[in-house]
Amino acid sequence: MAENRVVEGRMVTPKRLAAIIEGDDVMDAEPIADADRDCPECGSNVLEVGYMPSVAEFVTGQKCQECEWHDTDRE
Ligand SMILES: [Zn+2]
Repeated sequence: MAENRVVEGRMVTPKRLAAIIEGDDVMDAEPIADADRDCPECGSNVLEVGYMPSVAEFVTGQKCQECEWHDTDRE
């Protein structure tokens, strides 16, 4: 079951949140969690989602709930 969260005022599924972070559709995404940090841009809550942009890659992405800030654990 997808656990939806509100991001920038909109309800998003884990796959939708991952797509916002990635800038493209992803194959699969894990449930959304709260990241252990605040947004460096606006200080709001940051969400975290693990996702697979392709079969060979797993990325952990973070996205602010209130502004456009996002980041991934990619090198
Ligand atoms: Zn922010």
